[in-house]
Order: sequence, then C-alpha cells, then structure tokens
Amino acid sequence: MESLFQSIGSRSFIPHGYCFSWNPALLWTFVSSDAIISVSYFSIPFALLYFSFKRPDIQQRKFIALFGLFIVSCGITHIFEILTIWSPIYWANALSKSITALVSLITAVMLWRIMPAALNVPSPQQLENANRQLEESKELLELRVEERTVALSNSEEQLRLVLEGAELGFWDWNIISNHVERNEQWARMLGYTVQEIKNTTQQWADFIHPDDRKIALESINSVVDGRSSRHKLEYRMLHKDGSIRWVLDQARVMGYDSNGKPTRMSGIHSDVTERKQIELRLQQQAHFDFLTGACNRGYFIERAETELARSIRYNKPLSVLMLDIDFFKTVNDSHGHKVGDAVLKNLVAICQQSLREIDIVGRIGGEEFAMLLPETDKEKAVDVAERLREAVSTNIIPLEEGLHLNVTVSIGISSLESMDDNLAVILSHADKALYQAKHTGRNKVCAAA
Ligand code: GH3
Ligand code: MG
Ligand code: MG
Repeated sequence: MESLFQSIGSRSFIPHGYCFSWNPALLWTFVSSDAIISVSYFSIPFALLYFSFKRPDIQQRKFIALFGLFIVSCGITHIFEILTIWSPIYWANALSKSITALVSLITAVMLWRIMPAALNVPSPQQLENANRQLEESKELLELRVEERTVALSNSEEQLRLVLEGAELGFWDWNIISNHVERNEQWARMLGYTVQEIKNTTQQWADFIHPDDRKIALESINSVVDGRSSRHKLEYRMLHKDGSIRWVLDQARVMGYDSNGKPTRMSGIHSDVTERKQIELRLQQQAHFDFLTGACNRGYFIERAETELARSIRYNKPLSVLMLDIDFFKTVNDSHGHKVGDAVLKNLVAICQQSLREIDIVGRIGGEEFAMLLPETDKEKAVDVAERLREAVSTNIIPLEEGLHLNVTVSIGISSLESMDDNLAVILSHADKALYQAKHTGRNKVCAAA
C-alpha cells in the first residue's frame, strides 16, 4: 500500500515527458476536476428527464433533449481528457470533441431560435399579477351573480305576489316533455292544492266541463298549429265540490325551436264565475219572459228567423202555431191577476210538455203565444195543435178553497208554403187563422188556407 502511494506520487508515474510540470499534485487536480465535471454533467440529463416527466405541460421538449445530449457529450470529452493522460487515444478524443462541438453549435443556434418564445413565458411576478387580477374579476363576478340572483328572486317573489293578489292561476307548459308547471292559485280555484294535481295537460282536460272540452282543446291546438296567435277563451271547469267555475284562460306561445315549432306555452286563469253568472242572468232576462220562462217576442223572432232560413236552405217543412187564451179577461176579472198569471205559467208548462225540444215557444203578447215547429208540415202541425188544445182544455188548475179553474185556447196554424215566404207573412197567416178560430167558436184549431 505504501509502495502504491509512493509510485502515484513519483515523477515516473507521469506518462508525458513535460506534461503537468511533472507535478503529481497538478495531475490529480486535473484528473479529479475532470472526473467531478463528468459525473456532474452526466447527472444533469437525469434531472432534465425528471423535470420533463413532472411537467408534461412544458413545451420545447426537443430542445430539452438536445440540451441533455449537449451536456452528456461535454461530460464525455472530460472523460477523454483523463484517459488521454495515460493512453494516447487522441483520435477518439478528437472525435468526441468534434461531436461535442457540433452538438454545442446546434444547441447554441436552437437557444437563440427559441429565445422569443422563452421571453414570452410569463415571469412569476407577471403570473402572480395576472392571478391577482383573475381573483379580483372572479370576486366581482360572484358579487354580480349574487346581486342578480337576489334581484331575480325579488322579481319572482313580486310576480308571485301579483299573481296571488290578483287571484290568477298560472300555467307553464313544456310542449316537448308535456310537463305543466302551475301555481297554487290554479289548483285552489278548483278546490285543490297544487300537490293534489298532476303536472300534465290531461289533468287540465279532465277538469274541463265535458261540454266545453272540445272548444278549449281546439283553441289551444289552433295556437300550437299556428292558426291563431293567442288563446283566449271562457269555459267551465269542475270544482272539487261538484260546482262549476267559469274560467277565463289566456295564453301565448313563449318559446320556439329552430324550425319555428312551439316548445313552450304559458297562460293565466282567472275565475270569472260571478261575472259570468250575472251575464247569463242578464242574457236570460234579455231573451226570456220573466213570468212564464218562454222566449220573449224579440228572441222568438230572432230564433224563428234562423230556423226559417235553415228550413228554406234544406227545403224542409216548417209550421207556426199562434195561440190565444179564450175569455182570459174573464179569468182576470173573476179571480184576479195572480190567478191569471198562474194560468199563463201553467199554459207554457203544458206547451213545453206537449212539444219537442227543438220547438220554440214565444210569448209575443199578453196572453198570446207563438210556437215554431221545425221539420213539421201543416198536417202534422194540425195534429200537434189539436193535442195541445186538448191538453189545455182538460187541464184543471186548482184554486184556493177547493175551487178549480179550466181554460181553453184557440190556435191558428200557418206553414211554410213557398221558398219566398218570410216570417212576417207566416206569422200574419197564423194570426188570421187564429182570428178565424176565435170567430167560429173558440177552443178550436184553424189552419191558414
Ligand atoms: P178572447 O177569447 O177574444 O181572446 O177574449 P179575451 O178575454 O182573452 O180577450 P183579450 O185577448 O182581449 O184579453 C187579453 C187579456 O189578457 C187582457 C189582459 O188583462 C190579460 N193579460 C194580458 N197580459 C197579462 C198578464 O201578464 N197577466 C195577467 N194576469 N193578465 C194578462
Ligand atoms: Mg188576446
Ligand atoms: Mg184571449
């Protein structure tokens, strides 16, 4: 061991005649430095490899590989520096230097080429600033979203209050999924809670009065098909307690798909039952006689004109009966107006029992009545009139104190004879026939010639 150290330290160990000034200390300084440089250089590619693996987002990976090669080739030249001290492999050393020179040159050129991109990579300070700005914008955005959410829920609350205050039922129909959203009032109007009803259009159809279902569905369909721009209809709906509620339903299409087909429709229900009942009552008063319930003169003429036009159009027969109570003045004079009124009511009741649903009974004077019989020729009309006359004459009207009363009627008949006839002509012919019945004995039926 001692002799090994002596030989390493002796001048005879150095192969070159003049190299390293024959100084072992200088030689080993070179050797150890080159060895450390090589080892360090060889470790760098591993560090680069680790970095690339950990940061897959890093670009310029080819340059990193080139840089690794550059470092390795530099390390190899340092190894050759050590080897050529003892072995004259100068060509190998020269080759390694040449390769290193080439790789260095390429690396240097590439370094300048990627310089603009490298300069563009934001510095940590810039990144921090950008991050701070982003954070501030995010906070601002969150604040705005929060403000908008509050505003939206406020306006939703206002809308809910308005709908509740105005007692309006709201519905929102997704036509694609056939799902219908409704508010509490929509259900309450019909005596239900919103939880008790299904979110379907069928549920709505089921609540509609059977007689109004067709027009209600048709009105909605006409909007969905684009035949009309808005649905506005009053129809009857069935309340949970069995009563009928009149609803004014108004809606529009609120969304379309890219082909222009409706995807959403929204509307409101208002309960118009009270108004509708007043309207129906007024209509009743305007069209019907208060005492007897028969059509008043005006409404009788209106309906008779319609029936006459229909009969002429379809070439169907039609007859009119004109009826007057015999000696009615005497009834009033003997028993008073109240009894007279009861007789009038009783007479109309008998007429309605004897006639068909399609026949129209009108009170056209104090105790004068007209009856329009569609699809009835003169012969049949005479039979009907005779039956009616008989029914009245055999009817006994009970009075107070066990007394009773019995009246008779005279009837004149006129029928549609020619397509040129008008209602005034037919009525006047019936009137003349009535006059004839009165003057030929009363309690009688006469037909116009
Ligand atoms: P005729 O057989 O010729 O018809 O004799 P008549 O007594 O019936 O004579 P007329 O037709 O002239 O009499 C009509 C009477 O009808 C006169 C009027 O007092 C009575 N009258 C008309 N309107 C009403 C009513 O609303 N209530 C009652 N109680 N009587 C009425
Ligand atoms: Mg009269
Ligand atoms: Mg009379």
